[in-house]
Amino acid sequence: MTPVNHAVEIRDLHKHFGRLEVLRGIDFTVEPGQVVCVIGPSGSGKSTLLRCVNLLEQPTSGKVFVEGVELTHIDVDIDAARRRVGMVFQQFNLFPHMTVLENVTIAQRRVLKRGKAESERIARENLDRVGLSEKADSYPAQLSGGQQQRVAIARALAMSPSLMLFDEPTSALDPELVGDVLTVMRKLAEEGMTMLVVTHEMAFARDVADRVVFMDGGVIVEDGPPDQVIGAPQHERTKSFLRRVL
Ligand code: ADP
Ligand code: MG
Repeated sequence: MTPVNHAVEIRDLHKHFGRLEVLRGIDFTVEPGQVVCVIGPSGSGKSTLLRCVNLLEQPTSGKVFVEGVELTHIDVDIDAARRRVGMVFQQFNLFPHMTVLENVTIAQRRVLKRGKAESERIARENLDRVGLSEKADSYPAQLSGGQQQRVAIARALAMSPSLMLFDEPTSALDPELVGDVLTVMRKLAEEGMTMLVVTHEMAFARDVADRVVFMDGGVIVEDGPPDQVIGAPQHERTKSFLRRVL
């Protein structure tokens, strides 16, 4: 039997900031094509966990594998490994002086060394995917927050990642704009994209996630299907969190 790699595997991950231990031994895996939502109170270490998965933060100890490649290995080509992981943040961080098309091509050209025609073709395909082909020549300031976030998603997708990380992608949006971004994420999930999503959108987690991970105080308290973790939580910490957010 050929071994099948996990999309993500995290083993005994610890992260300290000075004397503060923010991640206190995290173990979990994400299988190819799975959508895993991470929920938990503010300060529980969700963003730090995501940032350790693409080495925006260097773990203090433990191992992180993406598609079987150990990112925490001393000899790994970090840039090459990181390129396979797309990330979408709460803040969209588009370049304000560049058009939407330029925002979605620049990293393809600089990092992947794709030519102009190819990178523009891939940019347009991905703008189409997020429903924004009409906006290629607009500037970020001419777009709504929801549209800007969809550009940020297209920008990440244009790098052909095998895994997408989302850190509260709708938390900075006006409520009426949240739905469009979630619709795009739901479509990506249906297309089979592997996704690790930190979110407060419980309806999204319940409907779209294959698994929900509840974190508190730098540890995973519960990990299971949404019906279980959201629908019938076992731990008091999960229950009291859900009472506050539902
Ligand atoms: P969450 O995303 O769940 O709100 P974070 O991962 O952002 O939690 O933060 C967890 C803890 O780590 C918090 O106490 C936060 O203040 C601290 N922290 C995060 N990043 C840093 C940093 N770069 N330096 C020091 N402390 C940090
Ligand atoms: Mg956070």
